[in-house]
Amino acid sequence: MLDKVVIANRGEIALRILRTCREMGIKTVAVYSEADRDLKHVFLADESVCIGPAASSESYLNIPAVISAAEVSDAVGIHPGYGFLSENADFAERVEQSGFVFIGPRSETVRLMGDKVSAITAMKQAGIPCVPGSDGALSDDGDENLRMARTIGYPVIIKAVGGGGGRGMRVVHSDAALRSAISITRIEAKAAFGNEAVYMEKYLEHPRHIEVQVLADEHGNVVHLCERDCSMQRRHQKVIEEAPAPGISKKTRKMIGDQCVDACKAIGYRGAGTLEFLYENDQFYFIEMNTRVQVEHPVTEMITGVDIIREQLRIASGEQLGYRQDDIVFNGHAIECRLNAEDPDTFTPSPGVIEHYHPPGGFGVRVDTHIYGGYKVPPYYDSMIGKLIVHANTRELAIARMSMALSEIVIEGIKTNIPLHQKIIDDAAFKAGGTDIHYLENKLGLK
Ligand code: ADP
Repeated sequence: MLDKVVIANRGEIALRILRTCREMGIKTVAVYSEADRDLKHVFLADESVCIGPAASSESYLNIPAVISAAEVSDAVGIHPGYGFLSENADFAERVEQSGFVFIGPRSETVRLMGDKVSAITAMKQAGIPCVPGSDGALSDDGDENLRMARTIGYPVIIKAVGGGGGRGMRVVHSDAALRSAISITRIEAKAAFGNEAVYMEKYLEHPRHIEVQVLADEHGNVVHLCERDCSMQRRHQKVIEEAPAPGISKKTRKMIGDQCVDACKAIGYRGAGTLEFLYENDQFYFIEMNTRVQVEHPVTEMITGVDIIREQLRIASGEQLGYRQDDIVFNGHAIECRLNAEDPDTFTPSPGVIEHYHPPGGFGVRVDTHIYGGYKVPPYYDSMIGKLIVHANTRELAIARMSMALSEIVIEGIKTNIPLHQKIIDDAAFKAGGTDIHYLENKLGLK
């Protein structure tokens, strides 16, 4: 087993990783920016190393700084968490070349899946259904692009090949708007991801976002851990997630789960991963694979009893999964609300000092957060300050439990999106289940 691990992240996920490492007897090294000295996991880690100023480009995204932290602390592995360097293939490669264990897939796999066009090609070859599209990056030939859009049929969506975080995509409804949409998306993609390549997909108008969690060891054993529904989104960013997805039958679950397992075997996948799909009219359409732990992994943990971080650490140590698909049982229903430091109406970030914090509790309630009374939420990073997760025997009870937990939680001093979550949890269509990815923006009058 890995003896000492650098946690190359911050906030709730850094604490989440630290907790499992401590349980497993793995020593931890926290790396933090100058703005993050007060992070909870920094206090709890065996060692900590300041890796640079507040700006993430100079700290959490600074590859040499993160690798030096592993060198000076004599660590064996580096856990990238999510966001930051977690899907940066150059980082994974540098980690490998420096003689450390990257807790994730091989760098070639990170590279293959990080380029959405090569990911779609690989998945298609492995038998996974994909959204009808350009089958490759778009050329500069405007006429050819027009022909392609007409063949696919409007509306189409132009997406950055190197995109992520719901950014770098634009919907096009007509010939007239196509050319400029392609050039604007190219410019944005170049600025945000350093890669101006874009591709085209059919824009599905009423899909749900359903994704499948997989685990694969180095010895060819692969299992899936059921699906999650992440359709409650704003600006392509997830707000609430749940597992299992409402209305998905056992037969459908097995069908898509088995396909994902086979595809992972075909590409020699290693580690935890997620295959993301749009789901419309009973059909799944692959959109991308995330080669890291996801924000919403706890809902899967709650219904399977599998600690996904523990499995990542075991797999990275070369261990066998040690169980088969049939050994995994899906129990009850879990829901997660992402807690953001932001105005619930305008969505503007609301950093600052948390004056009072009272977490909710009780049977089936889990809070993954790094905040505490007196903690100052810095303005430099993502506004997510934690996640409230509930688990119950049925979806109905999970909703009631979430409503109870949301009414109990107190975070004072900053604004949070808790009122937004209360509104969604009380919503009749959410209660019925199966709303599409546009539902929230429509409900909020944002569309
Ligand atoms: P990212 O890597 O930025 O998260 P994804 O490809 O996973 O990008 O897409 C994010 C979200 O954008 C999806 O969950 C969905 O809401 C929307 N989206 C992406 N592709 C399509 C499409 N072809 N049709 C409709 N919506 C889409």
